[in-house]
Amino acid sequence: MNVTDREYALELDRKDPLAHFKSQFVVTDPEMCYLDGNSLGRIPKATITAVNDFLGEWGAEVVTGWGHWVDEAQPTGDLLGAAALGAGPGQVLVCDTTSVNFYQLCLAAVHARPGRKTIITDAANFPTDRYILDGIAKQFGLNLVIIDNENPAIATHERITTQILAPYLNDDVALVTLEVIQYRSGARTDIKSITDQVRAIGALVVWDASHAVGAIELNLDANGVDLCVGCTYKYGNSGPGSPAWLYVSKKIQSELQVPIQGWFAQDAQFEMGAVFERAQNIRGFQIASPSLVGIRCVQTAFSMIKDAGIDAIAHKAAVGTQMMIDLYDAWLAPLGMELNTSRNAKERGGHISLVHPDAAQICVALRQISNVIPDYRTPNSIRLAISPLPTSFVEVWDGFARMRDLVASGQYKEIKESGSRVT
Ligand SMILES: *Cc1c(COP(=O)(O)O)cnc(C)c1O
Repeated sequence: MNVTDREYALELDRKDPLAHFKSQFVVTDPEMCYLDGNSLGRIPKATITAVNDFLGEWGAEVVTGWGHWVDEAQPTGDLLGAAALGAGPGQVLVCDTTSVNFYQLCLAAVHARPGRKTIITDAANFPTDRYILDGIAKQFGLNLVIIDNENPAIATHERITTQILAPYLNDDVALVTLEVIQYRSGARTDIKSITDQVRAIGALVVWDASHAVGAIELNLDANGVDLCVGCTYKYGNSGPGSPAWLYVSKKIQSELQVPIQGWFAQDAQFEMGAVFERAQNIRGFQIASPSLVGIRCVQTAFSMIKDAGIDAIAHKAAVGTQMMIDLYDAWLAPLGMELNTSRNAKERGGHISLVHPDAAQICVALRQISNVIPDYRTPNSIRLAISPLPTSFVEVWDGFARMRDLVASGQYKEIKESGSRVT
């Protein structure tokens, strides 16, 4: 059967072992094609119950609730680590935001390599990561190298490791930090080979897996990763502003000290002693009181990911993005769009990126005219995702068919500004 036949997508849905998960999410408009699960996942129905239950729990238990709430960042971290990170227990915390966790781990890494003055990242990295590194470099007089790899050529593993990174590695480097999946292009980085390469020069890597977690298998333990952070609201479906996570491998926990020495990191926390003595386990990386409402959202969403199995999720992301690329070849390339993501499934995650000079207008028109939710990234990218649990193949197929019609008709040109500060 041909991919341009809608039956092709319906058949993929019939064979999809994860198809039944879609009905476990809130979908208020069944006609909408929601292709932005890489920015904000849909809400699981179970989350509504879990949050309500928690509010009752708070009401009934008030302060005594802290007796068990106090440690929830750790078991929730273990759940997230087992479900999505390939991480054994005692190495993951669910806490704070990605930005805060990134700051904490990057600075801990830099201070663990005294005398070295260079931090490396790339221009493709997410803004908050680049801005935080800029702040760290200024504050501590370090040299921040931002590798310029944001040209139109597709970032393959080969390009990122041997051509892009290697020339910058030397014994002045303390820290290298990259995204596992680049937010704009959708390019996936080979975390094992880069971790090995950077370890060989005595430096540390902090990975940001925000666009990868819940879409692909990360195997952090098996890949020998030391440090990693990520959010929970993209493919993690845990809700806007839900707490993020950090991973610190057991083999390195005792060597690192994060800059914010909060009371939750204190070994004998409730003795409230005069001197800071860090807990020697993963709690030594926690700052403060966990957000319980948010943590319950993470628990329900990552329990679903655990039930589904990250391998099955990654497989669906690979098949779904392949279908998108095949539809792009058939329908969108002839309309002047350019694919900016690798054709090798191992070099991408759950989203692809299409480039078009009118991308901004097309994205607004997709929402206003076609009832398709894509994601625009300045200056010219349209990102389109399949979030494996809440999205069906036919939803993606319909979204692409509507985009083809919209672009072919030129109707999007009538659309003006969206008026929103958020793109
Ligand atoms: C989404 C994302 C973030 C978000 O940071 P917050 O602190 O949660 O606002 C950070 N880094 C990357 C790579 C992301 O994709």
